[in-house]
Amino acid sequence: MHIDAVLTSCIFLIAPGEEILFAVLLVLLTNATFIGALKLLISTIMLTSLVSFGGMYLFDIDWAVVPGFARLLIMSFLILYFIFFAFMGFKLIQNFLNLANKVKQISRRDPLTGCYNRLYLDKELPKEINRSLRIHYPLTVIFVDVDHFKKINDSYGHSVGDSILKSFVDIAQTCIRDGTDWVARFGGEEFVIVLTNSDSEKGVLVAERVRERVEQYIFRQDDIEINITCSFGVAALETFERQIRAETLLKQADVALYIAKDSGRNRVELCERHKKKD
Ligand code: GH3
Ligand code: MG
Ligand code: MG
Repeated sequence: MHIDAVLTSCIFLIAPGEEILFAVLLVLLTNATFIGALKLLISTIMLTSLVSFGGMYLFDIDWAVVPGFARLLIMSFLILYFIFFAFMGFKLIQNFLNLANKVKQISRRDPLTGCYNRLYLDKELPKEINRSLRIHYPLTVIFVDVDHFKKINDSYGHSVGDSILKSFVDIAQTCIRDGTDWVARFGGEEFVIVLTNSDSEKGVLVAERVRERVEQYIFRQDDIEINITCSFGVAALETFERQIRAETLLKQADVALYIAKDSGRNRVELCERHKKKD
């Protein structure tokens, strides 16, 4: 800023007129605003005044009328200068928006499996429920837990365990509708699948599909082959319901999941509430 002030003051000393002074002040003000150094602007203006008017006094320079071509030059410079700043501003905003978008994506994804994370589930499930209640559509949540996962970790190591979690998410994604249904990692080896516009019957069908595909899948790494199974608990918000909290729905699916575990694992259990309805 200070070097800018001295250089632009020299231009003023070569052609000391109102236009040049105006251009110098405008350039300094733009620079200071752009870099957010408004305090620096005061010292810069003082330095500009000192060099400009001190130089005029020292070299006995008279205030002159700026010739037409110089005026044209100043105007062209100013126009180019502001186009440059406008472009820089545009690029900065673009970079900022891209960065903000990336941060948003990262903050809602589970870094290991790439599916949504707990934060996203806690934020989005209540919204999905409200949307379903408003338009009188059903909604199903499936709570999934990988069976005997601790044994897999203990036998083959955590990196194999990690790869198996990734494989589970890949399989689950192939069983749901793209764009409307989604998978979130609840924590550890537990996942929640959210099916929009799907009642408990559809929920059980989808859970069965995931269960079968997981059961048939053989995880291979180097010379090891591992079979995994999962247990599922299904709970739904039906069209006749007036209100239900996300925590309540998840709790109901979780209770059903524990019944599936107690009944021997590798199975799908529907929440009792829906069974009574049938
Ligand atoms: P159950 O059939 O009753 O669910 O038994 P389980 O062994 O699957 O359940 P348990 O809760 O005893 O063990 C879960 C294990 O999951 C323990 C923990 O170390 C492991 N785990 C949690 N998060 C991760 C992870 O990100 N990567 C790996 N590799 N293991 C994890
Ligand atoms: Mg568990
Ligand atoms: Mg488990």
